[in-house]
Amino acid sequence: MIRTRFAPSPNGPLHLGHAYAAIRAHDLARTRGGQFLLRIEDIDGERSRREWIDEHLADLAWLGLAWDAPPVFQSSRLDAYREAGDGLKAAGLLYPCRCTRAEIAAASTHAGPDGPIYPGTCRGRHVDPAGAAWRLDMAKAIERAGPLEWTDEIAGPQAARPERFGDVVLLRKELPASYHLAATLDDAADGVTLVTRGMDLFAASHVHRLLQALLGLPVPVWHHHPLLVEADGRKLAKRRGSGAGAFGLADRRRAGGDGRALADALRAGDLPAGISLSQGLH
Ligand code: GLU
Repeated sequence: MIRTRFAPSPNGPLHLGHAYAAIRAHDLARTRGGQFLLRIEDIDGERSRREWIDEHLADLAWLGLAWDAPPVFQSSRLDAYREAGDGLKAAGLLYPCRCTRAEIAAASTHAGPDGPIYPGTCRGRHVDPAGAAWRLDMAKAIERAGPLEWTDEIAGPQAARPERFGDVVLLRKELPASYHLAATLDDAADGVTLVTRGMDLFAASHVHRLLQALLGLPVPVWHHHPLLVEADGRKLAKRRGSGAGAFGLADRRRAGGDGRALADALRAGDLPAGISLSQGLH
């Protein structure tokens, strides 16, 4: 049976782009007789807030979306992340790193999908692991896993190219996980068969496919959908303030807007003024 999920981070108000993503994951499950799950990605301790979780749940219900199991909270899964991290350490695939963002930015010579590529400063060096972040030795991991493929329903078959990310952080300094590790483990633990999310995370799927191979996890199919963009072509984003005002779900809900009608309009491609769907998939 197909199973999809929507995985909001409770670090700010949801906007129309989140509504579009949630509706898409929900409807893909419904039209194919499957299940739709909700996962709260609440492990970013500095920015996650309980009140945002309540707001997100209210927004999704307002849109007329229902999920088929109680929401899963990443904060309840730290032991599973730790265990997977320990396995990767034991396999010699992780190394501790104490570099600061500024040091990395100064020494990096390439930009990757997530920012400057780590220049490898701590790889092969003795670094005190206490309080350090742990990075994946990408070259070693790729060699261990061999050639990998994955499939996006829209873009078709892909040869995995995780090397574009360099040595990504898998365990953060203050957390036994990072987005890449937690999302990959959770999708497997929850039996997600169709990972539905915006195409801004298309590149991340190369890393997730590699982690699945290293951790012996099942391989889902992906569905990376277009994004809602503003007139300047930039995607709606919390950090740009898209969660407030006309593009914000909670503000529309509080103003007495009809959430189900909004959801139907988004389904029909009838987008509010100033918003369009991004073209292209990469
Ligand atoms: N929590 C992520 C976000 O809000 C989504 C992660 C995912 O769908 O894999 O952008």
